[in-house]
Amino acid sequence: MQFQTIPHPAPLPSDTRAEALKNPGFGTLFTDHMVVIDYDEAKGGWHSATLGPRQPIALDPAASVLHYAQEIFEGMKAYKQPDGGIALFRPEANAQRFNKSADRLAMPNLPEELFLESIRQLLSVDGDWFPTVEGGSLYLRPFMFASEAFLGVRPAKQYKFLVIASPAGNYFKSGAPAVSIWVSDYTRAAPGGTGAAKCGGNYAASLVPTGQAFAKGHDQVLFLDAVEKKWIEELGGMNLFFVFDDGRVVTPPLTGTILPGITRDSLLQLLREEGLDVREEMYSIDQWRADAESGKLLETMACGTAAVVTPVGKVANDDFEFTIGSGGPGQITSKLREKLVGIQNGTVADTHGWMMKV
Ligand SMILES: *Cc1c(COP(=O)(O)O)cnc(C)c1O
Repeated sequence: MQFQTIPHPAPLPSDTRAEALKNPGFGTLFTDHMVVIDYDEAKGGWHSATLGPRQPIALDPAASVLHYAQEIFEGMKAYKQPDGGIALFRPEANAQRFNKSADRLAMPNLPEELFLESIRQLLSVDGDWFPTVEGGSLYLRPFMFASEAFLGVRPAKQYKFLVIASPAGNYFKSGAPAVSIWVSDYTRAAPGGTGAAKCGGNYAASLVPTGQAFAKGHDQVLFLDAVEKKWIEELGGMNLFFVFDDGRVVTPPLTGTILPGITRDSLLQLLREEGLDVREEMYSIDQWRADAESGKLLETMACGTAAVVTPVGKVANDDFEFTIGSGGPGQITSKLREKLVGIQNGTVADTHGWMMKV
C-alpha cells in the first residue's frame, strides 16, 4: 500500500522540542505526525494510508466505538541504538497480538507488514523525537477503532487504524526503586471474556480499582482471578514473576484472562537461559503472603513495555500488608532488567534476533 504524505504546516520548533525532550514523563508529550489507514468493507478493506500532521480526527457522533467500545491497541517502543540508528523490540509479536485482539473484538485483521510499515513511516519523519533522559525511548501506540455511524449492535463495517508516538521517560511518577501494589476486590477479566485482548474496554473497567490504589498511596493495582478470587493474575497493565530461594521462578499461566505480554514471553526465555527453573503456574495470594513472610519468596517483578522490569516492594489490601524481600530491587530483577534494557538499547548482544532496525 502506498502512503500519501501530507506535509506538516507547523512542526514544533526544534528548541521547544529539545526542551520538552529533557523530561517527557509518560504519555503526555506527542510527536508531530501520525499514520491513518481507513478500512471499509464496501471498498474492499484497507485503503487510503496517510502519513500526516498529528491532529484531531473527525468522528460521526454515532461512530460505534463511542457507544460499544470496539477498540484495540498496542504498546511498543523504538530505541535509539549506539550507532545512532533506531530499532524496534519484537515488533512482529505486536503485529500478531494486534490481530488476535482484532479477532476477539470482531474487527478486521491488519496485514502484519502494513502494521510494521506504518511504524517505519512514522519513525521516518519523527525519528528526532527521542528523549534525552537516561532510559528514554519513543513509545508507539498503534490502535484501531470502529468508525462506522451505526447504533445497531453488530461488528462495524468501517474502521480506522492509527499510529501515534510519544517520547517516554520513566513510567512511574514516584521514581521509587520498587513499586507498591494494591490488591483489588474488583476483577479484571472473567473466563471467556476479553482478558487476553489488548482492548480499551479492559482498561475502562480497571479505572475504579486503579483509582483506589492511587488514593491509598500505591502505584498499581493487582487483580485476582474472577472465579475463586484467589489466584494472582496480573497488574493493570503488567505481568508478574515470582522468584524463590530454591531457584524456582513462577509466572501465572496464559489461561485467557491475562494479557500475553511480550515482555513476559521475553523474560521467560531469559530466565531459562539463566538456568532457573521457570514455571507457568497458578500462584495464590495467600501463598504469596506466606512465602514473603517466611522468606521463601525473594523477589517479585512486574513487567511490560512501558515499565520494562520493575520490582514490587510492597503489597497491601484492607486486610493485610506485606513486604517482598528488603522492599527494594532484588538480584534477579536487577539482572534481568539490565539484560533486557541492554538488548533493547543495543549494548548487550541480541542473540535472539529480537531487534528490528528501521
Ligand atoms: C500490554 C499489557 C501488558 C504487557 O504486555 P507487553 O507486551 O509486555 O507490553 C500486560 N498486561 C496488560 C493488561 C496489558 O495491557
